[in-house]
Amino acid sequence: MAKKTDVLIVGGGSIGLNAAYYLLKAGRSVTLVDQAKIAAGSSAGNAGHVVPSHIVPLAAPGIIGTALKWMLDPANSPFGMRISLDPAYLSWLWQFALACSEANVQRAIPPLKALGLLSAQNFADLVAAEKFDCHYRPTGLLFLYKTQTAFDGGKHEAELLHQNGMPAEVLDQAAVHQREPAALADVIGGVHFTGDASLNPAVFLQQLAARVRQMGAELVEDAGVSGYETQAGRITTVRTAAQEYQPAQVVLAAGAWSPEAARGLGLNLPVQAARGYSLTMRATRQMPQQALLLGERRVAVTPLGDLLRFTGRLELSGLDTRVQPRHIAGIEKAVREYIQLDEKFEIQETWAGLRPTTPDGLPLLGVSARCPNLIVATGHAMLGLSLGPGTGQIVAELANGQKPAFDPSPLRPERF
Ligand SMILES: Cc1cc2nc3c(=O)[nH]c(=O)nc-3n(C[C@H](O)[C@H](O)[C@H](O)COP(=O)(O)OP(=O)(O)OC[C@H]3O[C@@H](n4cnc5c(N)ncnc54)[C@H](O)[C@@H]3O)c2cc1C
Repeated sequence: MAKKTDVLIVGGGSIGLNAAYYLLKAGRSVTLVDQAKIAAGSSAGNAGHVVPSHIVPLAAPGIIGTALKWMLDPANSPFGMRISLDPAYLSWLWQFALACSEANVQRAIPPLKALGLLSAQNFADLVAAEKFDCHYRPTGLLFLYKTQTAFDGGKHEAELLHQNGMPAEVLDQAAVHQREPAALADVIGGVHFTGDASLNPAVFLQQLAARVRQMGAELVEDAGVSGYETQAGRITTVRTAAQEYQPAQVVLAAGAWSPEAARGLGLNLPVQAARGYSLTMRATRQMPQQALLLGERRVAVTPLGDLLRFTGRLELSGLDTRVQPRHIAGIEKAVREYIQLDEKFEIQETWAGLRPTTPDGLPLLGVSARCPNLIVATGHAMLGLSLGPGTGQIVAELANGQKPAFDPSPLRPERF
């Protein structure tokens, strides 16, 4: 028999769990279903960077040329793409190419900045209020550069942040080595985005899942959504592998799987999976002092208490979460080009996850025009951890018919 529920959330990653938390705080009842394990999917093994400084979307001028150049060196490339004639994939690529313009960057900055700052504030408040012990460190993100061209790009980004009233400190060679003693001698400069933070994403999400359970949410694992019944556009029934639900409202937060999870609702959600990898080890003798991003290689380094994690690569992969050992080796090699590391370390975990990526680099967030009791919250690409708490708050405000903290209309889910 179908179970009556208030809000049914589809997906238990960063976005679904944050939506659950803010909905519960706003007085709603929540059931969250996941096709696999909760707090374990694409959100768990990521770099753990909370980056309001990331106000420039992936779809920006010059990115296609850079990506093609990278692909000439497949062993070291931070980017890869599958060859496929899948019409949804080809259409996504075409829309992405069209979006790589200065106009798209200017259009994207205000909502990315608003959502990023709201999320960063919510992270600080949430971690403090709930006393989460997840290695949250509001000490910024330090970019390291080895070439003048990349350093100039970093300075340009710092300038863009200043124009938008956000902090970024440009560091010359002496200053960068003082800030990060583990940097190798040929690192020539850095930019420290001091408003950023880092944490252990898996630990944060496990604690968030435990907290929303305690607040009364029902979290159901191995309960993939397989179909819907609708009446005049409204979703009346959601079928899952566990059971059927009759929700008042539905939140779609299924990450890279969102187009599949919404199948049957007639929505156009151009989300492609962009796979990335991480390797995690016990703390090394020579630990970096803070969260780093290795400029030319686009590899992230995150100290997580007694762990150290390296993260990298973006591959338009389809829904494939297999770990490719040669890319894990490539990431480690890249890290050794920038910082001092123990000669040998024991890898504790290798991991692959899928970034849910839209053609214009902005999330899909808002009430569906087609299904008025559906809120879409997906497409956060490389920022789904960072933008989680702000997205959760906006979802709760939209669900309760309140004025959202900022105007999310540039993110409306059916804009394509
Ligand atoms: C290598 C790497 C590094 C990254 N580093 C960072 C970082 O430092 N900072 C940052 O902000 N972001 C980072 N990201 C991006 C971030 O991990 C993603 O944006 C984020 O995981 C997306 O969260 P989500 O909740 O939308 O999706 P997910 O975490 O993928 O969660 C979606 C959930 O939906 C479930 N699901 C799917 N289909 C169904 C269905 N039919 N029914 C029910 N449930 C379903 C899945 O099982 C999954 O648990 C990184 C990503 C990668 C790959």
